[in-house]
Amino acid sequence: MTRPAPYTAPNAAVLVVGAGLSGAVLARELAEAGWRCHVIDARPHVGGNCHTARDPETGVMVHTYGPHIFHTGDAATWAYVTSFARFRRYTHRVKTTSRGAVYGLPINLHTINQFYGKTLRPAEAEAFLATQADTSITTPRNFEEQALRFVGRDLYEAFFKGYTQKQWGCAPRDLPAAILQRLPLRFTYDDGYFNHPYQGMPEDGYTALTHAILAHPAIRVSLSTAFTPDLAEGARHIFWTGALDGYFDYTLGRLGYRTLEFERFTAMGDYQGCAVMNYADAEIPYTRITEHKHFAPWESHAKTTCYREYSRAAAPGDIPFYPIRLVAEQALLKRYVARAKTLENVSFIGRLGTYRYLDMDVTIREARAAAARFLAQGGTLAPFHIDPLA
Ligand SMILES: Cc1cc2nc3c(=O)[nH]c(=O)nc-3n(C[C@H](O)[C@H](O)[C@H](O)COP(=O)(O)OP(=O)(O)OC[C@H]3O[C@@H](n4cnc5c(N)ncnc54)[C@H](O)[C@@H]3O)c2cc1C
Repeated sequence: MTRPAPYTAPNAAVLVVGAGLSGAVLARELAEAGWRCHVIDARPHVGGNCHTARDPETGVMVHTYGPHIFHTGDAATWAYVTSFARFRRYTHRVKTTSRGAVYGLPINLHTINQFYGKTLRPAEAEAFLATQADTSITTPRNFEEQALRFVGRDLYEAFFKGYTQKQWGCAPRDLPAAILQRLPLRFTYDDGYFNHPYQGMPEDGYTALTHAILAHPAIRVSLSTAFTPDLAEGARHIFWTGALDGYFDYTLGRLGYRTLEFERFTAMGDYQGCAVMNYADAEIPYTRITEHKHFAPWESHAKTTCYREYSRAAAPGDIPFYPIRLVAEQALLKRYVARAKTLENVSFIGRLGTYRYLDMDVTIREARAAAARFLAQGGTLAPFHIDPLA
């Protein structure tokens, strides 16, 4: 692809902090409307946490910060991403190892029949699970109660208890019930992980996709450039896609995040036969193994690259991955939001700017909506286009 010559003037009207999908999409929308944007990122690459790069040893395209599968129910967002990159069909399926056996997730008819050694049909399985569910729990107060109410103790302990404890570093009964609502129960043999009609992988990876979004003559990108106030001189507006507490130098304290550590290893051929294998048992310290070559089944590589994934509390200097958002974090978030609302000409967007877990399609939709509002209001926007406390 031929890219236009980049914009090189020293000062832009808009400073965008962060060259992940939020920053890239926002800058592109503004650039298309005639605004000059300077996009900076502390990292040496664009794409934020969606960054992909070829493993120099195996040639496999690796999802550097963990596996990313694009999926959406929103035709406009699908049209948007596919206008910047060629997407290949990819249907995500997840397996889990529990007590020495391998099952399909999310829990589906095959999982239920395999786990209980039965041959139930859909209606029979639904009726059977109803006998396993703890009906004494009417209003689940936490994750554990939600699981017990939905699937009963056997499935909860085999698939959710240990995994959740490793992922969040606390007992499932200390987590909100809402987390489990994200895992559907299926009474069919459909073992696809996502329900969305649009699903795929950018053929050349997410970093190439982000480069394509940023390739506009009115956009200048500076990598390995952490925010310093002088970069905002002359800018009419700052869009901050970095951490909300980071904007304030953590003066009120740090919002809690889980971070991930990846232990890379290589092997010959095919290591595990699927992209993601979860490990549900509490005794196994990692949560899952990702084998990246399975994200690009149209490629062929003699060797394979895998990541063993460990989850732990983020310390200063770690990459923030999953916002924790328990009671203590909510209280601190409220204070940061109140402080941010006193600012002028700064808007916080994206997963870090609003301290929420966001899938890529939501990230893109929200960035486009923020840009549209900014343009409609003649170049102004409130600190929050989306309320982080909602
Ligand atoms: C492990 C994991 C797996 C995921 N899997 C999926 C998936 O399968 N499907 C899906 O749809 N979504 C997935 N997501 C979500 C996806 O990663 C996010 O939607 C997306 O990264 C959000 O983009 P963003 O631009 O808001 O944030 P980011 O990607 O975090 O980008 C923010 C950028 O800002 C930069 N920055 C921060 N502070 C500063 C500063 N002070 N100065 C300069 N630069 C700064 C950072 O370096 C970073 O590059 C996953 C997330 C995680 C954590």
